[in-house]
Amino acid sequence: MKRSVLIVGGGPAGLLLASHFREHGIDYRVLERGKIAQAWRAMRPGMVLLSPAVPGTDWTSLTLRHPIWALPKVRRPFPTREDFLCYVEAFAREQGLNVAENTAVTRVSADPGGFAVSTTDGEESCRFLVLASGASTAPAFPDVPGIARNPHVVHSCDFIHCAAYAGKRVLIVGGGNSAAEIAIELAGTATVTMCTRGPVRYFSETGDLEHIRGSSESVLKELFRFGIVRMREDDPVVSVAHRRVRFRSGDEHEYDWILCATGYRPKCIPLEGGDLRTDPGGYPAISAVGETTVPGLYACGSLARFNRRCAFIHGFRNYVEKVFWDIADRL
Ligand SMILES: Cc1cc2nc3c(=O)[nH]c(=O)nc-3n(C[C@H](O)[C@H](O)[C@H](O)COP(=O)(O)OP(=O)(O)OC[C@H]3O[C@@H](n4cnc5c(N)ncnc54)[C@H](O)[C@@H]3O)c2cc1C
Repeated sequence: MKRSVLIVGGGPAGLLLASHFREHGIDYRVLERGKIAQAWRAMRPGMVLLSPAVPGTDWTSLTLRHPIWALPKVRRPFPTREDFLCYVEAFAREQGLNVAENTAVTRVSADPGGFAVSTTDGEESCRFLVLASGASTAPAFPDVPGIARNPHVVHSCDFIHCAAYAGKRVLIVGGGNSAAEIAIELAGTATVTMCTRGPVRYFSETGDLEHIRGSSESVLKELFRFGIVRMREDDPVVSVAHRRVRFRSGDEHEYDWILCATGYRPKCIPLEGGDLRTDPGGYPAISAVGETTVPGLYACGSLARFNRRCAFIHGFRNYVEKVFWDIADRL
């Protein structure tokens, strides 16, 4: 059976797009490699969102018709990862969205009039295919000799609890929110050093959500002030040999763990029969309505960089509607 639309990814963007198709009676299916909002399940337990979620200042809800603050018990301005997961699950369940969980898309082939899609659960086909597979599919590591396949190097996505690092010397590589939050959590349990490749930037000074935000900012500054967390600002790692780290300044130190809080990058699904152009960061080149360089193949959500704000829900939610209307008009 050839569907009108297949959506790769059951994260916030894929589900929001699915809700538009459902509402307009268009035949669609979401293919999700894990459970609904799998990317959020993999995040640190207890993590607090960057985006506020209160009536009037709501950056976290997928639509204002289904706001997160309408969920019972979500009554704090910054919800946790768990609040958000409950919200996304309720969003999908209450609307009865057609989501195939545990169904990873492994290969796509652009055929005349549509796409053949191979999944871990069999073959599917569709007229329009939407990639909503997210910008955080693969952890990104610094491109530094000695990092790859080093057993002492871990990524922030694998950080579960500070207890695993008790009494250890930990170097946190990175100067963003994840680096700051993990440094605060480890302080007092491990001997923590943070290192950044440039100056440390704070949200209160720049207003940029990617910079260290308010609630972490003050605690981190105090930890620096009292020397509880050491900071090597603008002194990036240039090479690693086993546990030994060399910094740009020429200093060398040993650490038990090198924890890279260096973000994520999108991962492309293998595509045959089309020329999918991407930028150096791995984001597909898209038109003003989200169509990629392969006709009929769209990107949406955090994978569709209409602008930098699309890394966040409040930045991409209106663009999801553009993708929807373009496809709906062509059906
Ligand atoms: C640590 C961290 C904190 C963040 N905090 C915030 C915040 O506070 N506020 C905010 O707005 N944003 C935040 N973000 C950004 C957040 O990830 C996005 O806003 C949002 O999750 C993007 O939604 P999405 O649906 O585009 O992608 P994702 O949430 O990444 O969803 C993509 C889905 O696609 C699935 N998938 C991937 N590949 C395949 C495949 N081959 N086959 C099938 N399924 C596949 C994945 O399993 C996943 O479920 C944060 C990101 C990180 C990493």
